[in-house]
Amino acid sequence: MQLIWFRQDLRIHDHAALWHGAQQGACIALITLSPEQWKLHQDARIKIDFYLRRLGILKQQLAQLNIPLIILNVPLWQELPAKLLTLCQQLNIDTVHANIEVGVNELHRDFQVQQRLEQQQIKVELYHDRSLFPLGSIRNQSSQPYQVYSAFKKKCYERLILDIPSCYPAIQPQDPLELPAQLNSFDLQKFVADYEVDDAAQLWPAEDHAAFELLDDFIGEKMTHYKTERDLPAVDGTSRLSPYLNIGILSIRQCIQALFKQHQGYFQIDDIGQQTWLDELLWREFYLHTLFDFPRVSRHRPFKESTDKVQWRNAPEDLIAWQQGQTGIPIVDAGMRQMRATGWMHNRVRMITAMFLCKNLLIDWRLGESWFMQHLIDGDLAANNGGWQWCASTGMDAVPYFRIFNPVSQSQKFDPNGDYIRQWVPELAHLDAKSIHEPYAKNSALELDYPKPMVDLKASRVRAIEAFKSL
Ligand SMILES: Cc1cc2nc3c(=O)[nH]c(=O)nc-3n(C[C@H](O)[C@H](O)[C@H](O)COP(=O)(O)OP(=O)(O)OC[C@H]3O[C@@H](n4cnc5c(N)ncnc54)[C@H](O)[C@@H]3O)c2cc1C
Repeated sequence: MQLIWFRQDLRIHDHAALWHGAQQGACIALITLSPEQWKLHQDARIKIDFYLRRLGILKQQLAQLNIPLIILNVPLWQELPAKLLTLCQQLNIDTVHANIEVGVNELHRDFQVQQRLEQQQIKVELYHDRSLFPLGSIRNQSSQPYQVYSAFKKKCYERLILDIPSCYPAIQPQDPLELPAQLNSFDLQKFVADYEVDDAAQLWPAEDHAAFELLDDFIGEKMTHYKTERDLPAVDGTSRLSPYLNIGILSIRQCIQALFKQHQGYFQIDDIGQQTWLDELLWREFYLHTLFDFPRVSRHRPFKESTDKVQWRNAPEDLIAWQQGQTGIPIVDAGMRQMRATGWMHNRVRMITAMFLCKNLLIDWRLGESWFMQHLIDGDLAANNGGWQWCASTGMDAVPYFRIFNPVSQSQKFDPNGDYIRQWVPELAHLDAKSIHEPYAKNSALELDYPKPMVDLKASRVRAIEAFKSL
C-alpha cells in the first residue's frame, strides 16, 4: 500500500508524488494539519482559509479516483514521526511518497520522519515538484550555485532549450478502498469554520477552474501587454496566479507548458510579454534554489552577512503606521491597505512599500517580511524572503543600497492617474492626478482626513545610505 502525503501541493493533476505512488500500487492520501506550526510560521489567516477550502475540494477529487484521504490534526511537527509510524503500521504501508518542501524546518521534519519510518523498513520517497528544475541542479562551471539572477536565468534557458519539463500523466481511478472508520472521522467542516475569512471565497475561489481560467486568460489576453502593464497597479495586467502556485492548485510545469503551448512545448520566444513572464517565473525559481542552497536566509539571516551590522531603528510607532497604511505616502498606504483587504498586493507596490520600510524608515526588513507573511494569501517563504532581501539590499543579487526608490516618483510613474491610490485610500479620492501622489506638497495647510508624510523622503534616503555605507 502506498501513502501519498500531500502538503503545499493540493491537486491531483501533474503531481509527482501521486503519480509515482500510483505506479507502485494502491494509494491512500494523507494530509496533516498543524495549527501550532502555522502560528510559528506566521501564516496569514486568509492563506489558511484558502488552504482548507481547497482541501475540501481535493478530498472530493481524490474520492473520484477511489483514493481515500486521511486528515490528521498534528499541532506540532515534532509529533509527526511517531504519529506517521503508527499510521503506516496500521495501514501496512510500503512507501510514503511526498513532494519536497524547501524550508529548513520542512526539510528537518521530513528527515526525522524518514529516519523513523526507515528504521521500520517503511520507505520514504521525496520528489522535486515545486520547482521547475530539481533543487541543487542549476550549477555554474565550478559546480557552485549561482549568486546572480541573470546567470541563473541563462542556465535555465539552456535547460529549457534542451527540454521543457512536461506534466505528469493523469491518474486513473483505482479499485475502491475502505478505510478503518476511526481514520475517516476528521470533521473538516468544523475545522474550516474556525479559520473562515469573510469574502475570501469570492475573491479567491479554490476550484481548479478558477486557476485554469486565470492561466488561460493571462496567456490568451494579458501576456502580450505584460511587459508594460505588469508595473501598473491600477491595471489588472498580471496573472494573479501566486496564491494558486503557492498551495499547488496549479503546478509550475503547467504554467511553463501553457507558455510554450503554441509551439507544441518547444522553447520559442515570440514576444517580449512571453519572455518577461518566463523571467518572472524564473525569479520564483531563483528564490527557491537560493533557499535550498543557502538555508541561512530562512533563519532570519541576511544573505550578505555584512549587512547584519546595519543599525536598524527601533521605532514601533513608525512600524505600526506603515502596517496600518497611515504613513502619509499615498502609494505606500494604498499597498498596505490592499494587502490587508484582499491578502494580495501588486508586485510593484510590494517593492515600493518594502523599500520604504527598510530604507526611508530604516526599520529591520525582517519585521516587514513577517508582517507580509501574516497577511499575504500567497505568503511563500522563498519569494517573500527573496523579495524583502532584494529591497533591503541584504540579499543575493539585491538592489544596490544607494538605489533607493522615491515612492512619490514611483507613484507618479506607475499610477499616473492616481486610480490605484483612489481605490485604496478613499480619503484622497477627490484629489486630481497631480496632487494625489503628494497631497500636502503645494499646500501644507490643506485640510484632509489623511496624515502628513511621516518622514522626509530626501533626508531619510541620505540616512539609509549612510547606514549602509558605514558597514
Ligand atoms: C517584498 C516582496 C515580497 C513578496 N512576497 C511574495 C510571496 O510571499 N509570495 C509570492 O508568490 N510572491 C511574492 N513576491 C513576488 C511577487 O510580488 C508576486 O509573486 C506577484 O506579485 C504575484 O502576482 P502574480 O501572480 O499576478 O504575478 P505574475 O506577474 O503574473 O508572475 C507569475 C508568477 O511568477 C512568480 N513571480 C513573479 N514575480 C516574482 C518575484 N519577484 N519573485 C518571486 N516570484 C515571482 C509568482 O509565482 C507569480 O505568480 C514578493 C515580492 C516582493 C517585492
